[in-house]
Amino acid sequence: MHGREILVAEDEIKIAEILKDYLVRAGYRVSWLERGDPVVSYVKKNQPCLILLDLMLPGLDGMEVCREVRKFSQVPIIMITARVEEIDRLLGLELGADDYICKPFSPREVVARVKAVLRRVYASPADKTMVAGEVSLYPKTHQALAGGRELKLTPCEYNLLKTLMSHPNRIFSRNELINIVQGYDFEGYERTIDSHIKNLRKKLTSHLPGQEVISTIYGVGYKFNVQLQE
Ligand code: CA
Repeated sequence: MHGREILVAEDEIKIAEILKDYLVRAGYRVSWLERGDPVVSYVKKNQPCLILLDLMLPGLDGMEVCREVRKFSQVPIIMITARVEEIDRLLGLELGADDYICKPFSPREVVARVKAVLRRVYASPADKTMVAGEVSLYPKTHQALAGGRELKLTPCEYNLLKTLMSHPNRIFSRNELINIVQGYDFEGYERTIDSHIKNLRKKLTSHLPGQEVISTIYGVGYKFNVQLQE
């Protein structure tokens, strides 16, 4: 994430000032451009963490700006538009904006949208939903699904699964797993890992019969299996 600078591209000075006020109060740094044509070079140079982009801008309109920025950057873009009928296009793959706000808007809502988009885009990897094969992990709620059904895991099993899933097909040694998962109920014995893996496997197998989700690599450790797609 590139600092906390938000770029506002908006040609109506009053709107830009209100946005700036609210965003600064919410703790962001705000820069402002009142034309569309300098946005691309500004973004290349300064790498803001988010762009609030008005659709109707002199110089280069918001759609063109968005298209140009997407050629080199995935920076989150929230489009500001007075034209409700444009929304589908704005959010569509063609343009790749992250969200939109309709004019007239409440500045509070803008701040809430900004925060939500930033959370979504820059969520720390530790909080991101993990999906590997038919298993999904939701770190925020400590839930795991296998074959669409919830797995009831102990904290230790959960952490083992999370570790193995973080690098599918990579072999983790027992020692590595002990170190990573320590702090729960490990005493540091390799056999403890084996029995936790055994229990975890049993639970996975009951949801995904016939699948070997976690493999034992004899003399080495364990790995989470994922078939590589062509
Ligand atoms: Ca405008």
